[in-house]
Amino acid sequence: MPPIENATASPSPVRLVVMEGDGIGPEITAATLNVLAAADRLFGLDLSFSPVAIGLAALQSEGKTLSERAIEAAGKADGVILGPVSHHEYPPLSQGGLNPSGELRKRLDLFANIRPARSRGGFPARCGSPVDLVIVRENTEGFYADRSMFLGSGEFMPTPDLALSVRKVTRAGSTRIAEAAFALAARRRRKVTAVHKANVLRVSDGLFLESVRAVASRFPAVAYEERIIDAMAALLVRDASVFDVVVTSNMFGDILSDLAGEISGSLGLAASLNAGTDHAVAQAQHGSAPDIAGRDRANPASLIGSAAMLLAWLGERRSNERLTKAAGAIDEALESVIADPPSRTADLGGPLGTKAFGERVAARLGGLSARR
Ligand code: ATP
Repeated sequence: MPPIENATASPSPVRLVVMEGDGIGPEITAATLNVLAAADRLFGLDLSFSPVAIGLAALQSEGKTLSERAIEAAGKADGVILGPVSHHEYPPLSQGGLNPSGELRKRLDLFANIRPARSRGGFPARCGSPVDLVIVRENTEGFYADRSMFLGSGEFMPTPDLALSVRKVTRAGSTRIAEAAFALAARRRRKVTAVHKANVLRVSDGLFLESVRAVASRFPAVAYEERIIDAMAALLVRDASVFDVVVTSNMFGDILSDLAGEISGSLGLAASLNAGTDHAVAQAQHGSAPDIAGRDRANPASLIGSAAMLLAWLGERRSNERLTKAAGAIDEALESVIADPPSRTADLGGPLGTKAFGERVAARLGGLSARR
């Protein structure tokens, strides 16, 4: 293999939009960019970073937490690094409050939220055995009030004492998320678990299961099973190591992925990618953690791992080996830094701050690339 260090730039530039978000967002984004800049130098990726304000900062400067200009910039970029957002602190839509996370998923049609839950660096899983599963969560439908209607909200109050929510499930949406899950499982341990509540939501989850089963029949080499959401929660706690790829609807996937991430070791380690056909957004699984914001205490591993997933996604789309190798190397560097207890952040019982952890991963990346 030719040496990678000091490699000339990749033939196609990678233009990334960076939205640092709220709470711990600016700190974990800075640590992530430090690691990406190191990967850029070492692997010749030709990355560029364009900062775009969102969230409370954008509300102050532009009167809106997500402007049309920001959405347009994200749509034109090759990928987006999205920090966590404190959207429950935002004012109503009429006063400029718009959830950047949900809006980008909708507007860029990021239908697949790929959420690995993997035990890392010897940090013990809470269920006893090391976990390596991926939750493939539908991202554009389900029980999300901002995603179920063409016009208006999926939540409404016919009377002051009655609130109703609409849940949206389509055959096309269920089919494409199932296809993403089976394609992923075919490259892993070849098992898909569909999670549902069709015993109660007979019509909507009935349609979801019917669509997933149709896709399953096209992948005979992938084992297929179904679990009811409540039983699945118990089974994850009992032994999450038995699952490979889990496909489910939006809200079930949101809840189960936090559970699986924590069981695998810590939510602070859980990466995630929002991906569609043409766009992808790297976003940590956790929220903006306002309780520790601005104190250099947050663990940036989740956003760093998400950025690596974005590079891997781009590498596959472009058949660009440099991007694929850089993604693998960032992942390996994360693994080896977390494996060393004095290199861990406070949430994992270690002494390092956010910035120092990012620097440690960037330095380890240099060591690894020299060996490749
Ligand atoms: P939000 O309202 O934006 O979802 P939250 O604090 O309610 O924020 P999380 O951000 O998911 O929800 O945080 C849950 C707990 O986990 C908090 O105590 C937070 O400090 C901790 N936490 C979350 N992310 C990290 C991180 N990257 N590093 C360390 N601790 C974290």
